[in-house]
Amino acid sequence: MNIHEYQAKEVLKGYGVKIQEGIVADTPEAAHEAAVKLNAETGTSWYVIKAQIHAGGRGKGKINETGSNGVVLAKSLDDVSSKAKDILGGTLVTHQTGAEGKVVNKVLIAEDVYYPGESEPKEYYLSILLDRASGSNVIMASTEGGMDIEEVAEKTPEKIIKEWIDPKAGLQGFQVRKVAFKLGLTGKAFKEMTKFIAALYKAYEATDSSQFEINPVLKTSDDKILAVDAKVNLDDNAMYRHPDLAALRDLAEEDPLEVEAGESGLNYVKLDGNVGCMVNGAGLAMATMDMIKLSGGEPANFLDVGGGANATTVEAGFRIILQDPNVKAILINVFGGIVRCDRIANGVVEAYKTIGDISVPIIVRLQGTNAEEGAKIIDESGLKVQSAITLKEAAEKVQAVLNS
Ligand code: GDP
Ligand code: MN
Repeated sequence: MNIHEYQAKEVLKGYGVKIQEGIVADTPEAAHEAAVKLNAETGTSWYVIKAQIHAGGRGKGKINETGSNGVVLAKSLDDVSSKAKDILGGTLVTHQTGAEGKVVNKVLIAEDVYYPGESEPKEYYLSILLDRASGSNVIMASTEGGMDIEEVAEKTPEKIIKEWIDPKAGLQGFQVRKVAFKLGLTGKAFKEMTKFIAALYKAYEATDSSQFEINPVLKTSDDKILAVDAKVNLDDNAMYRHPDLAALRDLAEEDPLEVEAGESGLNYVKLDGNVGCMVNGAGLAMATMDMIKLSGGEPANFLDVGGGANATTVEAGFRIILQDPNVKAILINVFGGIVRCDRIANGVVEAYKTIGDISVPIIVRLQGTNAEEGAKIIDESGLKVQSAITLKEAAEKVQAVLNS
């Protein structure tokens, strides 16, 4: 589960991580008020206005309607209101949102932390994530902060510092000092960075996160270390342990069909092809999507109805697939192992009758226990549903439908 930058910063702050302070707002008036409050609390008179969407690249991204960037600097209170107005309600397009962009419902009004002083402010990169290959968490850091880290990894991999943490021993003091040292820090900034990393790691473990990415981490001109941006990825499977974090979910940021599917216990991912599919098991679903491509179509979705496919889950799956206007055909591919094919076939027929006028051709491939009986039920249903037993047969039927 993803959360917004303003929420992530609050969570981090709770674990002692120093952040660029800010107040969230959803109207230009509230943005003005937030700036007044921020001025009283921090003394800042310059402010950064940051669009809150679940995607990165906001600084370089543009609001379709006004041409404003998704992160802008304001040098007065009036400037805050007018610049917030150019962002709020607009559609922000960044390299991570896709061309359709994302509507901005909230902005974070933050203190300007790039103020001049003894040294130049400097941006660093810091992330913590689970490295599945080594079965341990890894801290990644770089002096190339503020940049696209994928590009740094590709062009100058030596500039990415990695420190793996032994799950039994936990994060050790020497490891934190090693990272801060490799970042070239000394004196007060070195000490601040070690505190920053230790607090960040504590937050990562305590929240059951799967990824933290702080880009940039800023060394201010007076050697403070602050999180300027914060991307926090929480582990969905651990949300039952964290009702406070689960409450941070913003459904407006998620695909409505995916939200609906989640409520029905289905594992659905929307794609942009023309053949909808419904499968039991994630591996079979992947294979089915390959098969759709081989038959000349493009998968419109990934949909795993899980092990216990029945009339209710099939109906929920149908309803979700049918809401996608691009779908020209639906392929149901179910392996009857524990569930028998005749039961699934009955479920399909029942769901079809409940939903009523389905105009899209449906191909049902049932294999496994009682496959023949299942095919018979489909064929004798009198509905616009074709049965198939082998994968090849199913692929040919999909192809025929697409070509007709
Ligand atoms: P992203 O573009 O979505 O990754 O958003 P970030 O939160 O990383 O902000 C983008 C950029 O805005 C940063 O890399 C900074 O260059 C700039 N920025 C953020 N905060 C401040 C600030 O307080 N003052 C100034 N001058 N620039 C800032
Ligand atoms: Mn960033």
